Amino acid sequence: MKKHICIIHTGGTIGMVKSSHGYQPKEKYLEIVLDTISDLKSTEMPKISFYEMSPLLDSSDMAVDDWNRIGEEIAKRYDTYDGFVVLHGTDTMAYTAAALSFMLEGLNKPVILTGSQIPLCEIRSDGQDNLVTSLLIASSGKINEVCLYFGGRLLRGNRATKMSADGLLAFDSPNCPRIAEAGISIRYLPYNPPKTDTGCAFSLCKLKNVPIGVLKIFPGISFPIFDTLMTEKLKGIVLETFGAGNIPGEGHSLLPIIERAFNAGSVVTVCSQCPQGTVTLGAYATSSALTEAGAVSGYDMTTEAAVAKLYYLFSKGYSKEEIKEKMEENLRGELTK
Ligand code: ASP
Repeated sequence: MKKHICIIHTGGTIGMVKSSHGYQPKEKYLEIVLDTISDLKSTEMPKISFYEMSPLLDSSDMAVDDWNRIGEEIAKRYDTYDGFVVLHGTDTMAYTAAALSFMLEGLNKPVILTGSQIPLCEIRSDGQDNLVTSLLIASSGKINEVCLYFGGRLLRGNRATKMSADGLLAFDSPNCPRIAEAGISIRYLPYNPPKTDTGCAFSLCKLKNVPIGVLKIFPGISFPIFDTLMTEKLKGIVLETFGAGNIPGEGHSLLPIIERAFNAGSVVTVCSQCPQGTVTLGAYATSSALTEAGAVSGYDMTTEAAVAKLYYLFSKGYSKEEIKEKMEENLRGELTK
């Protein structure tokens, strides 16, 4: 029997039109454009239903409540459809993909996020291939997790990161093999499904808007300025450190700030500024002090995944100790130890 896939349109360039202020989403427009695409009517395509969220958003405007709304739309339709394709702006697509991978507990169906760099209404749009291929992947029966498809690459959602502001191969997952590559045909690569809470029934965990901060370390950073920011008000802090988890050491005052934030209840997670490779706390003297100050390793997690995971774990109501433990655990294929 033909698979039935639901397209959920959240906004983003794919359905935008030019306005006097630049591109912006247009309500009740994309469905009409999709109706003119003959590939979508091919017998090789699954049965498709379309749902448009309101308001449509440029993804730079998305926040936790918007992730909850997308999660709710999927949850409402979970039993009706074989899979979902979420149309989304590219700017924060990797954050939403990571968030959904945690929020959709017990997920046993494909949820593929995609969009485009050039609107569908313009020549040379990458939107048609991204959408058509995402629909074929969602109906392939081969994937049952949150993925991001873009420019011929199918990536694990919580491993993806936006690599290019203007290229059509805009995303990659440098720390996790691609799940499939689409050229003349769609080639599924050797695949390790994420260790998930399989066996559990599907349910949606809505996220709470807990205060999270990301601090990128740079040479010459003046830590006292951050002293007033890194207080107990920040529940989760992602430190984007140099290389394998290094911060400026001697003579700098970050460690007491981290220690104080930790003692006041914050969970400090160490990620790397390098897109590829892993944090190894203790490999250098400049990182071992971080562990002593109470920070946890984000290993090879993207900042996007670390932020989404902090929101998720705080929303589950775990204690600080439990959150510290789970930040270092592989919950949905988001990290390799
Ligand atoms: N600003 C747009 C968005 O993220 C960019 C895009 O979709 O490519 O919604």
